[in-house]
Amino acid sequence: MENTLLIENATLVTMNAKREVLTGASLAVTGERIAAIGTPTDLRAQFPNAESLDGRGKVVLPGLINAHTHIAMSLQKGITLAVPEGIYRVMWPVERALTPEDIVVGALIGGAEALLGGTTCIVDHYFQMEGITQAVITLGLRGVLGHTIMSRLGPFTGEQELEEGIDFVRRWKGRHPLITPWLAPHATDTVNREWLLRLRDSASAEGVGLHLHIAQSHRELNTIQQHFGTGCVTYLHDIGFLGPDVLAAHCIYIDDAELELLATSGAHPIYCPMGHALHGKVQRAWELLQRGAGVLIGTDCVTSNNEMALVSELRVAGVSQKQLTGDPQALPAAKILEMVTVDAAAAIGMGDQLGALIPGYLADLIMLEMSKLHAAPTYSLLDNIVYTCNGRDVDTVMVNGRIVVQNRRLLTADEAELAAEAQERGHALIRRAVEKESDLAWLWK
Ligand SMILES: [Zn+2]
Repeated sequence: MENTLLIENATLVTMNAKREVLTGASLAVTGERIAAIGTPTDLRAQFPNAESLDGRGKVVLPGLINAHTHIAMSLQKGITLAVPEGIYRVMWPVERALTPEDIVVGALIGGAEALLGGTTCIVDHYFQMEGITQAVITLGLRGVLGHTIMSRLGPFTGEQELEEGIDFVRRWKGRHPLITPWLAPHATDTVNREWLLRLRDSASAEGVGLHLHIAQSHRELNTIQQHFGTGCVTYLHDIGFLGPDVLAAHCIYIDDAELELLATSGAHPIYCPMGHALHGKVQRAWELLQRGAGVLIGTDCVTSNNEMALVSELRVAGVSQKQLTGDPQALPAAKILEMVTVDAAAAIGMGDQLGALIPGYLADLIMLEMSKLHAAPTYSLLDNIVYTCNGRDVDTVMVNGRIVVQNRRLLTADEAELAAEAQERGHALIRRAVEKESDLAWLWK
């Protein structure tokens, strides 16, 4: 018989259908699933030999789902910050100097940072996804992963990338409990129409989702307008690409008609609060939500965001929308928490087993330390989670029934070693990039 772990005397933000918050409650985990939720007395009687984790002063939430990121980009932290058209001018030129090992180490660093910041599941795409997938499994993180496909512009393009993106899905479907493979065309201006149509067909045939960037930059919009005479969302709609199985990062450079098109298509626009704010152009997420769009939240890469902790992103999500709309009631904390739990779980096709604390669901959860000075006193719990907590308040992280962070310490990799490697490898990468392209000399000071 499998061992049971009891989290005892905690506050549980269940995110169940009634959105119940239970205080002084216990939760039992057996194997990879939540076995029961109830009073400490009842659960102790039901599982007399269970191990115990003290939940006093802590809030248990379903593990957070980061709906758009690229964990492998850790070595490129902050290099496009405040650079207009940084993707084209800095990101891709630097990426040409990456080694396969850099990508795996970058993924270990980014994945570790994600876990320590309260994320239990990432929706990620990047080049050389095979190595990244191994890093995700090593860390004990859950991943909806796609191999990035580009037909032009980026550092890795060509037919072999298209074939690898499709092969990756076939290799990983049903192979590992933590891994869900998806298809990942890069964006509307970097993947030709023929490939987009082929990937749309493949996704439907394989029963997997599509994860891409849409209307991320002004340059992307210009390119699509020049070639097809429409905006990026309209273009994808017209070729029959959009649907509920599409996760669309950014959707920033879009017009009013495209807001409506996105909402009615069922596609999920991904709001990246920090990245958008730092870029100076914020997604109209609250408007999209009010039109019925299933907006989710992602950190995007640390190249443009500088950090990966999803807990810290929640505050910016609320602040930015209130500022953008001039409405202090825009995007309330309860909605923000839904977007990174139940809504995201449904969007990745796991709504019946992830995103809420419900018996029978997979045991992906986090425990926040809420008894510290900056979080006390608590009058409105959900507001306090969103507006007082940061990544460093994440005490415990469990994925698929396995504790991977405890007492704020990562158990599946050596944090100090990874931090040292980030310094060393990061500087070596920039040096190599500058040697190849003298235009980047300002990066190396
Ligand atoms: Zn991205």
